[in-house]
Amino acid sequence: MRVRVNPIDCTAHGLCAELLPEWISRDEWGYPVVDSQTLPAQLVKSAKRAAAACPTLALRLQQD
Ligand code: SF4
Repeated sequence: MRVRVNPIDCTAHGLCAELLPEWISRDEWGYPVVDSQTLPAQLVKSAKRAAAACPTLALRLQQD
């Protein structure tokens, strides 16, 4: 599973980076910078929570 962000829908308020700091950081404008590698199993639960919390549904989990 991988984490993806739709940059068109993202409003850069950073909730995802707060909920999944191990995998998502923020650039200088506040937009998420996501590690594109396969998500480690121990982070899947947190990633699902971050995706569900994204107010614009910009954060998605993609099955490998
Ligand atoms: S929570 Fe969603 S809208 Fe907010 S920065 Fe993350 S991807 Fe963008």
